[in-house]
Amino acid sequence: MVTREEAEIAVKTLLGYIEDDVAREGLVDTPKRVIKSWDEIFSGYTQSPAEVLDSTFNGEGYNGIVLLRDIEFHSTCEHHLQPFAGSAHVAYIPTERIVGISKLARIVDLHARRLQNQERITKNVADDLEEHLSPLGCAVIIEASHGCMQCRGVKKQNAVMTTSAMRGVFFEKAEARSELMQLIRE
Ligand SMILES: [Zn+2]
Repeated sequence: MVTREEAEIAVKTLLGYIEDDVAREGLVDTPKRVIKSWDEIFSGYTQSPAEVLDSTFNGEGYNGIVLLRDIEFHSTCEHHLQPFAGSAHVAYIPTERIVGISKLARIVDLHARRLQNQERITKNVADDLEEHLSPLGCAVIIEASHGCMQCRGVKKQNAVMTTSAMRGVFFEKAEARSELMQLIRE
């Protein structure tokens, strides 16, 4: 277990790798600020999917698509510690239980606020919906731009990466998938 103080010292060491004068005014409190910002950026480790998705309601027979689209998120690429950000579309078709719609956004944030890759966020959100809601089907589509591609490496500013996880009826039936895609594009 790394202490907060050790983490701040480590950031100071990294600053020293970039610049010699880490004691100048603009940098002196940077280690503290970086670790404080990490508390928020990596707050996904303090929650579990079960906590987020445990309060469900009777769906009263509703058996259509529930879609929350354009959920903006920010995450951190685990390979370069660079930000990546974009939007997620999360859908499910309830069997008996429905979940508060804000929980779909919170489950995206829970995974985004960890060291990540886009594929894993996509898969994990779908896994959580399957496990906790037992839906007829669920789908997660994520579109994101990656800092590690924009400011280094191939330097592509406008490339957008799309990932998707289709489960249950969205995997099995082309009609369910196309109805979903239509709702997302509307
Ligand atoms: Zn990266």
